[in-house]
Amino acid sequence: MSNSPLVTYTRLSPNCNKPRNHAIDTITIHCTAGQGTAQSILGLPSFTEHDPVNGYSCNYAVGKDGSIGLCVEEANRSWCSSNRENDHRAITIEVSSESVSPYKVTEQALAALIDLLTDICKRNGIKRLVWSNNKSDRVNHRGGCNMTCHRDFAAKACPGDYLYALEGDIAAEVNKRLEEGEEVTQEQFNAMMEVYLTQQRSKESSSWSQEAWEKAEAAGVFDGTAPQAPLSREQASLVLDRLGLLPEGGG
Ligand SMILES: [Zn+2]
Repeated sequence: MSNSPLVTYTRLSPNCNKPRNHAIDTITIHCTAGQGTAQSILGLPSFTEHDPVNGYSCNYAVGKDGSIGLCVEEANRSWCSSNRENDHRAITIEVSSESVSPYKVTEQALAALIDLLTDICKRNGIKRLVWSNNKSDRVNHRGGCNMTCHRDFAAKACPGDYLYALEGDIAAEVNKRLEEGEEVTQEQFNAMMEVYLTQQRSKESSSWSQEAWEKAEAAGVFDGTAPQAPLSREQASLVLDRLGLLPEGGG
């Protein structure tokens, strides 16, 4: 299990459990209720000082300037959402926000959050993000719901009304990017074509062509291998030449 290559600052918190006990299949977005950079957020005493009772942590923190901090490695469980079970399966992300409701976040922070989420989904095999405005859907992962909130588990405003209202849009944007990522590159196509051609080359001759195929081999037109492989123009000219059907002298 790796961490995001988008990380710009790392300060690991002692407040975590190693390793997490569940595959990563959930995202929990939080707000910091106070603006900061990744570095300043991860420098908060509640993150840096080990405290099994009041200590906090998160997997990632996104700063107001779009900086991305690693606080707890993805392999481990952060202490973030007031719910042990949730944090064992979720990647938790603190996003820098204003200190008062609706806890607005900057455009840079939102953009970095969407980049980070896309990367997390890709690396962890999360095919798409599914959001619901219904708490029961979220906490029970009903209908494939895989986004939860701190407010689902504790009497908190987190992630704040600003981010809460955007969760569906955030999921839609991440999903759009994940779908775009599914386009086959030329390199991938070439590799697939290679596999296809290998499969064709290994096929036996069809019963309807058996007799002619054997005759062609006996006459030295073909070498008897790969009856179902495609025939190129250069191979066709070779066949015509072997049959004596081409005029001498190269035309
Ligand atoms: Zn929170």
